[in-house]
Amino acid sequence: MKKGLKKTIIFKVNSSHPQLEKIKNAANVIKQGGLVAFPTETVYGLGADGLNAKACSKIFSVKKRPANIPLILHIASKKTIFDLAKKIPREAEDLIDIFWPGPLTLVLPKSRIIPQIVTGGLDSVAIRMPNNPIALKLIKYAKTPIAAPSANLYGGHSPTCAQHVLDDLDGCVDIIVDGGKTSLGIESTVLDLTVKPFRVLRVGGIIEKDLRKILGKVKLVDNRKKIKSPAGNFHPSVCPSGKMILVEKTKGQIGEMQELASRFRKSGKRVGVMVTKENKNKFNGSVVKVIGLEKDLKTCALNLFSTLRSFSKENIDVLIAQGFKRKDIGLTIMNRLQKNIDKDIDIDKDKK
Ligand code: AMP
Ligand code: MG
Repeated sequence: MKKGLKKTIIFKVNSSHPQLEKIKNAANVIKQGGLVAFPTETVYGLGADGLNAKACSKIFSVKKRPANIPLILHIASKKTIFDLAKKIPREAEDLIDIFWPGPLTLVLPKSRIIPQIVTGGLDSVAIRMPNNPIALKLIKYAKTPIAAPSANLYGGHSPTCAQHVLDDLDGCVDIIVDGGKTSLGIESTVLDLTVKPFRVLRVGGIIEKDLRKILGKVKLVDNRKKIKSPAGNFHPSVCPSGKMILVEKTKGQIGEMQELASRFRKSGKRVGVMVTKENKNKFNGSVVKVIGLEKDLKTCALNLFSTLRSFSKENIDVLIAQGFKRKDIGLTIMNRLQKNIDKDIDIDKDKK
């Protein structure tokens, strides 16, 4: 525990059959305006009573998150959406039937009961129903929507296990409900239903192709351009120097990565390389970490944040990451990796 902070209590809970007493205890803390970190299927959330402005303000201060980045409200029953949002289009009900509980966040015009702090002053609110028994029970017993961004410091990597939460927020949250590793490892897709055609503001766990099956036309915010949803830029915490190079998926990708690695090594830099298993043995002399098999992108997504986090303990000067094809879940992985890039890095500066 950090000096001067409260003691964070950890409740270990069985993920498929959560011990109800522990969940009820955590729910009471939410009701009393406290902070509870809990697992969802995507990442661990930092939860507070979503209808209590003071409780929600703690989320922003603990995460050091700017006040204009809105929070997602998590609900345990589909019909709660009618209390929180108005002008719900017919398509929303189809989406809810198919994708909830699950990693799809819907942005809708907000109802009056939602505090301004939750929506960062916007007239719309983001809502989702997580697919995790612990999260659902916690929300149910708290009898309130739970506002919950990822339980990490602003700009850092989303936590996919309780230890990650502890690493970032020990002493700042009242309870961490430890339900083991999350199953998806990557955040929800955020879909704006307040505009036509509907617009994906953040790519995530539900892929565009599946949304199109239901909605027909969906506009995707261009991954290469700045995301229009008010999300944050990345903290220089990827590695101590904050340098990361994401090498696009091309025929010459691995050769390009090898060339970069050797160039940085020759200039005395300690190089980290994040690759798929197939390429594990191609980077002698670098700190190599495997994200998964290239043909198993779901596992790569699941391991993404924990692999990035593990580099922060390696004292590397630069991280070279293998990029993926920008398609389906590969697009989501690339979106998250791209947020890590230090745009000011001058690769040629280290050329000899
Ligand atoms: P996080 O809580 O960090 O997983 O991020 C929540 C995401 O949802 C951010 O990218 C927000 O910009 C987006 N979001 C939340 N509420 C709204 C809203 N009312 N309008 C547009 N985007 C939103
Ligand atoms: Mg986050």
